[in-house]
Amino acid sequence: MYSNLDKMKKHNFSAGPAILPESVKKQAAKAAYNYKNKGLSLMEMSHRGKDFVGILENTESLVRELLNINDDYAVLFLTGGASTQFYMAAMNLFKDSDKVGYVDTGVWSTKAIKEAKNYCKLQVLASSADKQYSYVPKKYSIPAGLKYLHLTTNNTIYGTQLKSMPKTKVPIIADMSSDIFSRPIKINDYGLIYAGAQKNVGPAGVTLVIVKKQLLGKTKRFIPTMLDYQTHIAKGSSFNTPPVFPIYVTMLNLQWIKSKGGVKAMVDRNKEKANLLYEEIDQNPFFVCPVAKRDRSHMNATFQLTNPKLEKKFLAACKKAGIEGIKGHRIVGGFRASMYNGLELSSVKALTKVMRSL
Ligand SMILES: *Cc1c(COP(=O)(O)O)cnc(C)c1O
Repeated sequence: MYSNLDKMKKHNFSAGPAILPESVKKQAAKAAYNYKNKGLSLMEMSHRGKDFVGILENTESLVRELLNINDDYAVLFLTGGASTQFYMAAMNLFKDSDKVGYVDTGVWSTKAIKEAKNYCKLQVLASSADKQYSYVPKKYSIPAGLKYLHLTTNNTIYGTQLKSMPKTKVPIIADMSSDIFSRPIKINDYGLIYAGAQKNVGPAGVTLVIVKKQLLGKTKRFIPTMLDYQTHIAKGSSFNTPPVFPIYVTMLNLQWIKSKGGVKAMVDRNKEKANLLYEEIDQNPFFVCPVAKRDRSHMNATFQLTNPKLEKKFLAACKKAGIEGIKGHRIVGGFRASMYNGLELSSVKALTKVMRSL
């Protein structure tokens, strides 16, 4: 079943939906056809049945174990993507009169701001729009009385990443869609964390939300049942039919992370890949990286050709080497290599080889 595919193997640098480890894909393929030799696909099985209930519990406990999440926090598996969390988080946490700070580090923060400003007194505390989001603002002050601080921890499109969180007692709301499970977190710094799965967690279709329970139920506004975190907490992410198969594949991927040594091991794994690529970009006269050195993302590296006329040649060479998903986001142009947990060092080596041979 897999032998042909092994021969066609690609180096997948896509930004999302993104790479999953080989072993995860193989297990998922089996479960999609015949789950545990039960003669049924997991996709055909009840979300109330013993099998899936076990999968859901196991996935939650892996999230808790890998990120060291205590019982003050609920772990939810929702739908609607990170884009739904832009307003769902705001609706559930903010009162109209609350002062809430947002840091604008790119497209996703801008979208989050647009959705949240209807639910609070929103202040944009800092923005890197002045330099095409090529850096992460650090020197901004946290106003007195701020209720929450919203941050995008990794800017998937521009290739910047927060290397450390600001020192503040204000609970942080973090969009970690593109770097969750790539490094340890200090959970008590956060009020809420959200992440669409399709970058570094699993397939598209499930959204991970980690929320501090005591922050909920305080807004007094009407929240539709499906958009109320408390609905999903009370029903263990199964108020309605959860995205069964994406949750299963998420579980497999978390098991893979655990087997590799957990998120601490992912730090080293990702640093090694990122260092190799950024070193090549910096020393290769054909390429430049637009991002400030200390803010360069270990997940998504953006880079450009010094001579844009070579683009066709470079892309053709990439294609020949089996390199996929290297084109930059349409609003940034250039190139982007996404190096999520699942990507092997050998793929980055294949890319740098092509870059050197240009
Ligand atoms: C991809 C992405 C989103 C949007 O995610 P959806 O699940 O497609 O809604 C939001 N924030 C960041 C940082 C992303 O990378």
